[in-house]
Amino acid sequence: MTLAQDGGTPVRRAAWPSWPPPATQEQRDLLLEVLDSGAWGATSGTKVNEFTEAFTRSVGASYGVSVVNGTVALFLALRALGVGRDDEVIVPAYTFVASATSVVLAGARPVIADVTPDTLHLDPVAVGRLIGPRTKAIMPVHLAGAPADVEALRQYGVPIVEDAAQAHGATRHGRPVGTLGDAACFSFQSSKAMTAGEGGLIVTDDEDVYRRLWAFHNVGRSLEGGWYEHPDVGWNLRMTEFQAAVLIPQLAALDEQVATRERSVGFLRKQGLDILPEPVGTTRSSHHLALVRYEPRAYGGRSKADFIAAMTAEGIPLDSGYRSLSREDALRPYSDLQPCPVGEAAGDSIVWIRQSLLMADEEDLADIVTATVKVQQAFSRR
Ligand SMILES: *Cc1c(COP(=O)(O)O)cnc(C)c1O
Repeated sequence: MTLAQDGGTPVRRAAWPSWPPPATQEQRDLLLEVLDSGAWGATSGTKVNEFTEAFTRSVGASYGVSVVNGTVALFLALRALGVGRDDEVIVPAYTFVASATSVVLAGARPVIADVTPDTLHLDPVAVGRLIGPRTKAIMPVHLAGAPADVEALRQYGVPIVEDAAQAHGATRHGRPVGTLGDAACFSFQSSKAMTAGEGGLIVTDDEDVYRRLWAFHNVGRSLEGGWYEHPDVGWNLRMTEFQAAVLIPQLAALDEQVATRERSVGFLRKQGLDILPEPVGTTRSSHHLALVRYEPRAYGGRSKADFIAAMTAEGIPLDSGYRSLSREDALRPYSDLQPCPVGEAAGDSIVWIRQSLLMADEEDLADIVTATVKVQQAFSRR
């Protein structure tokens, strides 16, 4: 069969489910309620508080603070745990660049540690080699919605900030992501499993950390103090009532959406796709993405970029994903950027199936498999 990129018929012409899903009536109603109320900011309205409390409760954490985005959530969590100038924070090589740039924002140095080959999560052994007197925090990332092994990082006795930007609703040994470390950060950016276009939220069980988070996100004010009293240095990083209005109804939809993606990943695995496994101890992944291993040898030696281009022409838009942070030259002034062979190999070989595709039903998902086989056969023939 001729590949679509060579003039053949594409496997699929139909669209994939949109993400975010179409707005619900409840979202429209809440949004209009905020608009008409004139209380658009969190300090005048009630929706941000309502959402923060509901989300925090769903995670099983004691305290939560909603902010403008996930990057800022990480920055605030680090600051609230005492990370500052010339401190070091260990982050995994295979993650979104914000895991490292949030450390830079806090004035500290990101130390990039390699990941384990099976899950691409922070490798506890690599962390052990990089721990030093300046290490003030470790930031495991729940990559693709699969909970990282946070217990294995506890042995180092350093505060842990969970980057849970991709892991809404995930659990490890039955415990929700967000309660595994000292603070955890979620994102509500457009691509995430819950979204308001932008947004972020930090949860913690530590009241002192909460008080600092609250002050930092609210111009240095204190919970009990007045509007023009600023016992701390802080910034206006508050979420708006509009964001909260869009987010509130999504909490109830999350479980079913996660279940849909779980079924999709199970189906694709059964059909032979080499999707990375979840770490041992995972009781629920949010399956934000499916990370697929691409083996050039099985495709006539053709590159990952060639594969993605051919699949996209077949109507299956795949993503190339991250490059290892050890190769992000922009970080060089802030980090030593030692080689991370596993993270670098992942950047060269991992292909992403994004969330919107995972929301499709089995008939649609079968197109991914059909196109993969078609491209594989065509590449191997040449
Ligand atoms: C999305 C994301 C962030 C940053 O969140 P924003 O809301 O986009 O600032 C941080 N870490 C990871 C792993 C992410 O996927």
